[in-house]
Amino acid sequence: MHAEILSVGSEITTGAKLDTNSQWLSLELAEIGIPVVAHTTISDDLDAMIGALRIASERSDIVLMTGGLGPTLDDLTRDALSAFLGKPLVMHEPSLEHVKQMFSRRNRAMPERNVIQAMFPEGSEPLSNPRGTAPGIWVVVPRPNRFSPCRIAAMPGVPSEMKMMFRQQVLSRLDGGDRVIRRARINCFGGGESQIEEMLGDLTARGRDPDIGITAHEATITMRVTAQGSSIEECREKIDKSRVAIVNRLGTLVFGEEDEELEHAVIRLLQQRRASLSTAESGTGGLLAHRLTGVKGFEACYMGGVVVPTNIAKRELVSVPADLLADQGPISAEVAQAMAEGCRARFGTDFAIAVTEVPEFDPNDPLAPVPASYVAVAGPNWQRTEQVQHFGDPAIAKSRTAKSAMNLLRLSLIEGV
Ligand code: ATP
Repeated sequence: MHAEILSVGSEITTGAKLDTNSQWLSLELAEIGIPVVAHTTISDDLDAMIGALRIASERSDIVLMTGGLGPTLDDLTRDALSAFLGKPLVMHEPSLEHVKQMFSRRNRAMPERNVIQAMFPEGSEPLSNPRGTAPGIWVVVPRPNRFSPCRIAAMPGVPSEMKMMFRQQVLSRLDGGDRVIRRARINCFGGGESQIEEMLGDLTARGRDPDIGITAHEATITMRVTAQGSSIEECREKIDKSRVAIVNRLGTLVFGEEDEELEHAVIRLLQQRRASLSTAESGTGGLLAHRLTGVKGFEACYMGGVVVPTNIAKRELVSVPADLLADQGPISAEVAQAMAEGCRARFGTDFAIAVTEVPEFDPNDPLAPVPASYVAVAGPNWQRTEQVQHFGDPAIAKSRTAKSAMNLLRLSLIEGV
């Protein structure tokens, strides 16, 4: 059994809007083990929609449509379904009542045109829409030359309405496939993609179950684990085993799971130690502060930060000695260290992290020296600095530097330096 998705709307075919509904629905179907074989995007054109419905219903057992259920003349999904099924549109009184109520609750008179939203192809079933006016449509279409019928759900285009309708009304009408699929993401920082792949060795072999894929985003490497089984429990067990194997091979490179970023790991470690942190940033212009203050409960440990892009700011706000700036230059390990120490003293925190300027560079110039920024951590009786080298895309240099600073603190806290 497999499914396909039809997204309706000229906004999507013209490129004005991105089709996120198909992506979301595919992930949902994968969760219940129903593979998706095609995504089709169709403009608000009746013939094109009828043609797409014919093709989809012929080759797939489940067809999920989104969009085109509104009251305006260019909303043609119900007309397309009616023409495709060869059934007239008939009025469904309870749906008309719902549409009327939606308007009266908003203190507005219902335009005559909205009556169309309570009309359904004969033999189909309305899918209620608590969030909007447009009910969805459910229809089971016999296929003379096939063993099983094709099941079609037409849902609104508005993502929040579509999601609610899918979860509340459509999901229970779909038999799950034979296989359950569960996914997990494990995040790490501090190694390159190929280095991590090498460390994982056979774990990333093709055809292995669970499947482990590697993706990179702004220097964070994510292992995507996909397990298949006959039950959720079986998938969970497989994922747990893979998680242990990954952590055994990568050690402290692993910092979190799912949507966790380095700032979550850092705040968690600080909270566990009841320790406080401050930041001094030059090249990252407040990125560290932005990321750290985005973590729930950050107030318990993040006391504040300064942005010090100029020599004057470095001298005045975090007490970097003028002669050190003159001797070493602002992009140096010594200045990063002085910034961290000055910041720690200024805020009176247990720890401080600092980042220097991030140099601009041309990644296509093979003769240029490898550009670098510096990050530093200052603790009660110690400090650590690290050079951050920038290869590849200059657009991620700031993010890489901010992450490297947080990672240096994370490792220092774990190692108990
Ligand atoms: P309603 O009339 O209740 O708004 P509808 O079924 O007529 O619902 P559309 O008019 O097709 O839906 O789309 C409404 C809005 O929903 C669009 O303007 C767009 O912002 C969003 N939308 C539609 N289709 C998609 C899609 N495939 N992915 C993401 N967003 C979508």
